[in-house]
Amino acid sequence: METIVAISTPPGYGGIGIIRLSGKESFNIIEKIFEPKNKKNKEIEGYKMKYGKILDSNGKSIDEVLVTYFISPKSFTTENMVEINSHGGPIIVNSILELCIENGARLAEPGEFTKLAFLNGRIDLAQAEAIIDMINSKTKKEQEASMNQLEGKLSNKIKEIQTNIMQKMVDIEASIDYPEYDIEDVTRNDLKKMLEKVKGEIEELEKNFETGKLIRNGIKMAIIGKPNSGKSSLLNAILNEERAIVTEVEGTTRDVIEEFIVIEGIPIKVIDTAGIRSETEDEIEKIGIEKAKKIARNADLVVYIIDSSKKLDKEDEQILELLNDKNAIIILNKIDLKQEISEQTEKIKNINKPIVKISALKKEGIEKIYYQISKMFNLGEINIDDSVTIINERHKEVIKNAQKNIIDSVNSIDNNFPVDIIQITIKQALEELGKITGTMVSEEIINEIFKKFCLGK
Ligand code: GDP
Repeated sequence: METIVAISTPPGYGGIGIIRLSGKESFNIIEKIFEPKNKKNKEIEGYKMKYGKILDSNGKSIDEVLVTYFISPKSFTTENMVEINSHGGPIIVNSILELCIENGARLAEPGEFTKLAFLNGRIDLAQAEAIIDMINSKTKKEQEASMNQLEGKLSNKIKEIQTNIMQKMVDIEASIDYPEYDIEDVTRNDLKKMLEKVKGEIEELEKNFETGKLIRNGIKMAIIGKPNSGKSSLLNAILNEERAIVTEVEGTTRDVIEEFIVIEGIPIKVIDTAGIRSETEDEIEKIGIEKAKKIARNADLVVYIIDSSKKLDKEDEQILELLNDKNAIIILNKIDLKQEISEQTEKIKNINKPIVKISALKKEGIEKIYYQISKMFNLGEINIDDSVTIINERHKEVIKNAQKNIIDSVNSIDNNFPVDIIQITIKQALEELGKITGTMVSEEIINEIFKKFCLGK
């Protein structure tokens, strides 16, 4: 095995930069480039920091650093590891990185340290994925759900289900191997009981899918309205106050900047309607109902903003109707002006959606919108605590597949199929579940998962 090296702190300038080494040669490499202040102190002591200098091949000092040794198997990767804390400038960390490479290390691939931790059995696949999810968390709730997973809550639940299934499988094997014992009937009943139990347990996990999706993907909110109704003003009022983070999401042809706010720990993504905005001044008129429909279709929540100092026109009425079967909030804006319409206006009232009165200009009533969003999606009730909340799409797919296999197995029992047929679908369920912890997963999937990691992790 090669010894790998990477800069583990983010690119740019900072107080400290960390360079990590993992592998057999780690200690040899550091010995070649590091001179401890206490020169006599040659001994490698684990989990203690040594202060000294990094020297290049000419003996020239590069930086003053602190070096920590992690002795195999008690390290993140289970291999010998070294962490060099240097000053956090890009020239410094890169020089140290290059020195490590000159002395025999290879530049690590993204996620390679965590991949080693998984391959060497220190953590399972779900835990490894939890690490990337934790790092990439946009909200505290997402981080909490990932931490639960890192601590093994999901893995333990899956292992518990696997064990239940496996114990019964041993019984079936017996009935197949020694048919003379004729334990078929007992086996069938027992088997069905076990499968029903497993089905219930998986259902419990599935119950949290929606919560997991909310935590991970948040709520896509589109603000639509006629020109001059106050969309931009509302957007500014919301984002100026509550803007959380701006993330760049890769994977689309261009990088999309997503802006979102966080309400009760849930990200509310404001769908970028910039394209529509710039197209024309009279967007709704020009875009027409079709475009509004399209936006509404792609949103979890449509906020329709109306200038309440004007009377409703045909178009408003058409758009209002369009909201009928959507999660929608109607906003009557410009309440600081003389009002022509109100929540009592028939066409508005009839739609039966929450109505919020605001002045986007004066930033009045904005918090009432948050309250309605929270109420509509029951955000106040989302509680992660100790529960297993699955936020990872891969895990969801796997669990759904396993459940399908379990249901097929139950049906096979009900239809009196031979035990060896039932055994096939049960085995498939086991295999699916094994994909979560990584015992039954192809190298391709593993590579795919770790590719998403950042360098140095
Ligand atoms: P958009 O075309 O829907 O994005 O609307 P804008 O946000 O650009 O607002 C159109 C005009 O209405 C601007 O002159 C805003 O200052 C004004 N406006 C927006 N909200 C309010 C409000 O609550 N009260 C008043 N009096 N004017 C507002």
